[in-house]
Amino acid sequence: MTAPIVRFAPSPTGRIHIGNARTALLNYLFAKRAGGQFILRYDDTDLERSTREFADGIAIDIAWLGIKPDQTIRQSERFDLYHAAADRLRSMGRLYPCYETEDELERKRKRQAARHLPPVYDRAALKLTAEEKAAFEAEGRTPHWRFQLEDRSVEWTDLVRGPSHVDSASLSDPVLIRADGSYLYTLPSVVDDIERGVTHVIRGEDHVTNTGVQIQIFEALSGRSPQFGHHNLLTNASGEGLSKRLGHFSIASLREADREPMAVASLAVLVGSSEAVRAVSTLDELGALVDLARLSRAPAKFDEHELDGLNAKLLHQTDYATVASRLAGLGIAGGEPFWLAVRGNLSVLSDAAQWATMLAGPIARPDGLDAAFLTAALALLPAEPWDHETWGRWTAEVKEATGRKGKDLFMPLRLALTGLEHGPELKFLLPLIGEAKARERLTSV
Ligand code: GLU
Repeated sequence: MTAPIVRFAPSPTGRIHIGNARTALLNYLFAKRAGGQFILRYDDTDLERSTREFADGIAIDIAWLGIKPDQTIRQSERFDLYHAAADRLRSMGRLYPCYETEDELERKRKRQAARHLPPVYDRAALKLTAEEKAAFEAEGRTPHWRFQLEDRSVEWTDLVRGPSHVDSASLSDPVLIRADGSYLYTLPSVVDDIERGVTHVIRGEDHVTNTGVQIQIFEALSGRSPQFGHHNLLTNASGEGLSKRLGHFSIASLREADREPMAVASLAVLVGSSEAVRAVSTLDELGALVDLARLSRAPAKFDEHELDGLNAKLLHQTDYATVASRLAGLGIAGGEPFWLAVRGNLSVLSDAAQWATMLAGPIARPDGLDAAFLTAALALLPAEPWDHETWGRWTAEVKEATGRKGKDLFMPLRLALTGLEHGPELKFLLPLIGEAKARERLTSV
């Protein structure tokens, strides 16, 4: 098999959400696992709703997820190709002008509904004579253009859904070009896929019907079509579809909420599968876990709590090198010993700041600490150098001297040394607090 070429084709009319990230990642992982290429294609033929800001934002979002496009193309720069393809379809007699207004089409649909017929376009425009067309044009009407479907069942072997088909006879001939000359998504997408040699079109299952139509356009223009895979869609926890327009779970908002990119990527890809609880650390590892043929067919629920859990789990196993520059960016020093001490207590990376602040002090010690006990403990505190054994040795001596054990022994020491009831293990924290601060914190005031 030649190396796959895939594309992710968002329209830059908003920021991408977790469901779009699923599409992007499934494409990327599929291509990269086989040494293929990933194209980022902006479907920005809607010049009113598409913006450069959204496009640039999407580039940032996918880069954050770890996706590195091999090429980026913009449909708004490729109209010549679409005009040429439309001309070819016209010359083949597959693209025909229609003059009905929206109102007229609506009336046709109502009449069909009254007769219990499906709302399929009746191809009346195919029967127009040259004089009738001229008369419409003289009235000031400009045509919209429909692609004439062959009335047959279009069949393909879907990478996700297996043998699939769409019965074209039950579809209206699709409008490819509006009366104002603008293109709907259908034709430009096919033209670009042909021109860029796209081998696999992996997209949401909301596009299955489009595939029936697009395969016919692929065949008309190039005699063949790419392979298709339609993955299940994501919903929110209550089962509602996600909307880019409403900003549901946008990648930008997840990043701003300090979620780990790999936690977001893992869940976007594995959601709904038995692997979804895995905190996967790299895209390579994630790529090895997905198999399009084994994706669930049912819609998958994206639950933010699940992401929270995965985020924490991932941080707990993240090594220092992976986060060093981000910690530096947050102004957090302390290096690897600090990271290894605190990572197990983080929900999000920026939580590390509160532990850095605690270590640096000053801390607020709670009231009511047992001064006599702390004085006894202080007297037994060894001199530096300290390591991870120091805490254990010291508290064994304090236990021996005071007769305290368990919570009565450890909690007052934790409260005095950190000001908090919970936190990272003290055997890691004590050397980071250091002797001078530890003595100060154990000294009653
Ligand atoms: N712009 C289309 C979308 O976002 C692309 C669909 C496709 O992948 O062909 O739905």
